[in-house]
Amino acid sequence: MRIDLHTHSRVSDGTDTPTMLVMKAFQAGLDVIALTDHDTFDGVPEALEAGKRIGLKVVPGIEISCKLEGKTIHLLGYGCDLWNRALNEELAKVRVGRTQRLPEMCERLRTLGIDISLEELMESAQGAPSIGRPHVADALVAKGIVADRQEAFDRFLASGRPAYVPRYSIALERAIDLVHEAKGVAVLAHPWGRGGKEVLTAPVIERLVRAHGLEGIETDHQEHDRDTRLLLFELGARLGLLRTGSSDYHGAKRPDRPIGAYTTRKSAYLELLSRIRARGGSA
Ligand code: AMP
Ligand code: ZN
Ligand code: FE
Ligand code: FE
Repeated sequence: MRIDLHTHSRVSDGTDTPTMLVMKAFQAGLDVIALTDHDTFDGVPEALEAGKRIGLKVVPGIEISCKLEGKTIHLLGYGCDLWNRALNEELAKVRVGRTQRLPEMCERLRTLGIDISLEELMESAQGAPSIGRPHVADALVAKGIVADRQEAFDRFLASGRPAYVPRYSIALERAIDLVHEAKGVAVLAHPWGRGGKEVLTAPVIERLVRAHGLEGIETDHQEHDRDTRLLLFELGARLGLLRTGSSDYHGAKRPDRPIGAYTTRKSAYLELLSRIRARGGSA
């Protein structure tokens, strides 16, 4: 059984529609995927529908942009009630904050001699409900200013780079609580990827488990090297956590992350389902 619990569609910063994503997962021989778009559930109903038609299990999910001690941390929520009010209100704040900073990002790029209009950004986002830095990166690629998204972040968009503008994000502890209020299960996405290790130390993760009921950590992810995956696997075992794996698929914009590149063990998946049911969520 092949299970990939973290994927993105065009509804956030991937390139496939939810239906295309499910078809590609099926063609890649997967049995289960979770759709975990950034800060929105908008793609989930279509993915669930496609899953039923195509014969692939789809777990409803989300990847929430959070902050812990000033650092960006991503939290995966599984099995949430898609219409939970408190959660959706916070997600809307993140999406609005992401879009509101665009004029300032354009302005900063202009002072660097790069002219990108809001219209071009809308074009590159293809109707996504919130336009983020990855879409700005895509516009820079389209203009031939950088070769790929990564170069755009490294030169312009990452925190500390000249076109970076901060935005609203949810405190990690609050996001975990909100996922639970929505009857979902909370799993830290790529906890030790991209500088996460500095803030998400083992004692901090333990505190999130004890004080907020964090249920899991994503261990097998492209941003974790082999040693990191093993260390996280052991840490998760010690803390009684779900340990998941995923491709973090983003479609054509990230060819380095083919769907199913990393997967979740069947036992961890079944445990996830039973924890979602215990919370009263749906999966
Ligand atoms: P935003 O929510 O608009 O601030 O953009 C955040 C998204 O940009 C994340 O979900 C990542 O997919 C991507 N991202 C953030 N930092 C980097 C980085 N240093 N290199 C590549 N992609 C990044
Ligand atoms: Zn993304
Ligand atoms: Fe992420
Ligand atoms: Fe992701």
